[in-house]
Amino acid sequence: MNLINIESSRIVQEITKTPMTFPILMVQNDSSDISRTGRVNSLETFASVDGPGVRFAIFLQGCRMRCKYCHNPNTWAIDSGDEMTVGEILDRAENYRPYWGKHGGITVSGGEPLLQIDFLISLFREAKRRNIGTCIDTSVQPFKDDPSYLETFDLLMSYTDILLVDIKHIDPDAHKELTGWDNSNIMRCLRHLSDIGKPVWIRYVLVPGHTDDIEDLKHTREFLDTLSNIEKVDILPYHTLGVHKYESLGLEYRLQGVEPPTSDEIRTASSILKGV
Ligand code: SF4
Repeated sequence: MNLINIESSRIVQEITKTPMTFPILMVQNDSSDISRTGRVNSLETFASVDGPGVRFAIFLQGCRMRCKYCHNPNTWAIDSGDEMTVGEILDRAENYRPYWGKHGGITVSGGEPLLQIDFLISLFREAKRRNIGTCIDTSVQPFKDDPSYLETFDLLMSYTDILLVDIKHIDPDAHKELTGWDNSNIMRCLRHLSDIGKPVWIRYVLVPGHTDDIEDLKHTREFLDTLSNIEKVDILPYHTLGVHKYESLGLEYRLQGVEPPTSDEIRTASSILKGV
């Protein structure tokens, strides 16, 4: 659900690291979970930067945001992709269990996985029955803080070990310009995740001229300082892999001519977001 190009090698600069341990959850049987279907864009068997340890990554279909730097526009359409059951996905994932070690497991990314929240609940509830670590890589754009949605969201959280959450931009207007959406519910979701004590790793895509303003980076750090659950911040340097997908989909690529950040620019942003 971010800058990462699903089919390409991944670029992540890790800023801080916290060892992860996950509680063991007792989960009731519910056979209807296994047959629930979701719309899947693709699977990756050995994902190494999508959460703790080695992970089996499931990229779901559908996203409402239109980030200018998105490298997976093929995930935007909610009615595309392949329909797969929870049982099919987890049976396939478990072939790779020997590689997960103590901290690995499955990560659901996208697209925006929270658009298929009922499917996610079934997938993670069944994963917990099988003692599999669970992680969501999300922009949290679908989050609402009305009581009905919160009940569903918190049920999902009860089966979720950790989230990787994008902050696209701290400034509301710049966020809308960059993604097409307001960021107020995203900030509220991060606050809620802090309130319930759910571990979060933040991801920040560094795009020269768009997300690298020093004051904005400082404001982002100030916001993170008000949260109590942030275990790590990753900078994802902007890159141009995946631009060809826009051509094949007949879409305009709106960051034409923007170059990846230099090492110095990455270092500066890292130091501010790390807060040192
Ligand atoms: S939130 Fe949606 S549009 Fe933005 S990078 Fe992720 S998949 Fe692409």
